[in-house]
Amino acid sequence: ALRLESVSKTYGERVRVTALDDVSLALPYGTFTAVMGPSGSGKSTLLNTASGLEPADSGRILVGGQQLDTSDETAATRFRRGRIGFVFQAFNLLPTLTVWQNVLLPARIAGSPVAKRHTREVLDRVGLGDRLDHRPAELSGGEQQRVAIARAIVTRPALLFADEPTGALDSARAAEVLTLLGESVREFGQTVVMVTHDPVAAAYADRVLFLADGRIVDELQAPEAAGVAARMAAFRPRKAVA
Ligand code: ATP
Ligand code: MG
Repeated sequence: ALRLESVSKTYGERVRVTALDDVSLALPYGTFTAVMGPSGSGKSTLLNTASGLEPADSGRILVGGQQLDTSDETAATRFRRGRIGFVFQAFNLLPTLTVWQNVLLPARIAGSPVAKRHTREVLDRVGLGDRLDHRPAELSGGEQQRVAIARAIVTRPALLFADEPTGALDSARAAEVLTLLGESVREFGQTVVMVTHDPVAAAYADRVLFLADGRIVDELQAPEAAGVAARMAAFRPRKAVA
């Protein structure tokens, strides 16, 4: 469902950082993939380019066989709408809107109605059923993170990108959210790509990709937490500055 073909991305002018270095990847529908790697290895860049939020320098990104063209921003936004959900590392909630309004905003913009009952169910599942009228400033970090997750999954996008979706959650809440993501994959055939630093979280995925210096350097199928932790310890971060 999602294909990356030789995708590269560099940042900076005087000091160039290769954030993604010739990455090729195929993620079928109904698969749950975790992306791991040291800080600065390009995990967020991978999600941002694969979802079309940021243009790649070279290479192609195909969603359901259709090329994601980021040169026309309006067309790219229209293409993403309804197809692609994103849970940001920094949540990106709208401060003036309530929990309920934040969760329904993307659907409102897209003009795709979402049943109230379904919205309520999703919010109950992430433990926010009693926080519907709160604004982000009135919520804890973990609660804000769960609003961001509810907002991304409520429309059941075919592709869901989540950048450390459990980073602010305790292990019990994290387990609930990861179970919810796993169920979306099984029940609706979603493709979920999740960045995480946590081997326990990665073990919920079908596959783990390990990034270092903007390259996929290793991968594990049907991962277990202990195996993931062992692989992570095996590679050291290096800085790729050219
Ligand atoms: P973390 O685990 O800390 O979130 P990451 O693996 O998500 O790290 P990225 O955010 O993808 O890392 O960054 C990859 C590299 O690209 C880093 O060296 C970073 O400094 C650089 N980088 C990322 N965004 C930008 C930007 N907007 N401008 C310049 N350099 C950037
Ligand atoms: Mg990141």
